[in-house]
Amino acid sequence: MNAEIIAVGSELLLGQIVNTNARFLSRQLAELGINVFYHTVVGDNPERLRSVIKIAESRSDLIVFTGGLGPTKDDLTKETIARHLGKELLMDEQALESIQLYFKRTNREMTENNKKQALVLEDAQVLPNEHGMAPGMIADNGRHVFMLLPGPPNEMEPMFLKHAFPALQSKLGTDDVIVSRVLHFFGIGEAMLETEIEDIIDAQSNPTIAPLASDGEVTLRLTAKHSQPNTAMMLIDEAENKILDRVGEYFYGYDDTSLMYELTKLIKESSMTISAAESLTGGMFQEVFTSIPGAGGLLKGGVVCYTNEVKAEVLKVRKETIDNDGVVSAQCAAELAENVASLTNADIGISFTGVAGPDELEGNPVGTVYIGIWIKGRPVQTEKLNLGGTRAANRVRTVKYGCHFLIKALKETQNA
Ligand code: ATP
Repeated sequence: MNAEIIAVGSELLLGQIVNTNARFLSRQLAELGINVFYHTVVGDNPERLRSVIKIAESRSDLIVFTGGLGPTKDDLTKETIARHLGKELLMDEQALESIQLYFKRTNREMTENNKKQALVLEDAQVLPNEHGMAPGMIADNGRHVFMLLPGPPNEMEPMFLKHAFPALQSKLGTDDVIVSRVLHFFGIGEAMLETEIEDIIDAQSNPTIAPLASDGEVTLRLTAKHSQPNTAMMLIDEAENKILDRVGEYFYGYDDTSLMYELTKLIKESSMTISAAESLTGGMFQEVFTSIPGAGGLLKGGVVCYTNEVKAEVLKVRKETIDNDGVVSAQCAAELAENVASLTNADIGISFTGVAGPDELEGNPVGTVYIGIWIKGRPVQTEKLNLGGTRAANRVRTVKYGCHFLIKALKETQNA
């Protein structure tokens, strides 16, 4: 089956939003073994939408649309497809009921145009929207399969996973189960990781191994197909073992995890608390930390010590350190980590000081960062980074490296 994804929305053409739906859908369709040969973006204009539908019909079996299912006048996707297919739009009572319920629950008045969202294509399979109002649809006219999905990713993604994925699976007539697992790595670049396991990737077709890099991290998605779920799982286990034999030292977790999630888990297991002293990260470590559900009670507090004054007066960095070593130094990072922990009575102190950019500081080039880590009962340790990125990337990576080094240090403490 060959597929084309058509994202409908003028805001995509204007560059106001990025077409992340196409990325998500392409990956999902690949897991089903469906080839995606085209991504199309078209504005909220019925004539132009009609013309891309005709082109898509000439080259694809499955045509997936996202966007344009909402209540307003410029939401025209299903109206245009209905006209194109010569189908009626019928009121779906279940969808209407769930829209009415939504308004009742949120104590808002339902306007007439909201009913439009419950109209569905005659003979289509309706895909319930459990995170919004407009339902999705699958219409099959024997020549092409038309799949209509809402635009907002937080509605489209769960709808696809729960309802559209199994529907496509049964259309493909395969009883094979598709199992996938994501492996997360940090501290190794994508090119290096791929080089290390190139022969494994090349020799492997079930599971497939797909690398992906973003924000200084690399992930590998292993996807296996088999009629028996246990066998699919076993194929993934075997491939994972081969990969981790080579690059296991950089591996930190599975599936929906993150470095910060793994860190909070370790701190919880150790029954410890943490505080942070943040200069160049300006509170970002604490912001990411507190975004993890269940992180409550682990973070004592912290200080955004952007100026030398706060470093010296609040966090008691010694005058000699500031005068002789500078604030971008291992010595300063060490004192910040130790002192923030003692100031807040925490078991762990972590600190970040460095040059995010765009200008140099104290003769240190952009991207020079020192991270201090103090864990109760252990000598303070410091790490130096030389990051070469933009200001934004340097700050994000600094936080990730902080998690990475602290995870390593906590594991060493546990194993000591
Ligand atoms: P709504 O009921 O919100 O109007 P809709 O199905 O009509 O939903 P659109 O109006 O086209 O969808 O888009 C709504 C929002 O969904 C957009 O403002 C955007 O934030 C997001 N969105 C739409 N299309 C995409 C896309 N291709 N990739 C990522 N986000 C998208």
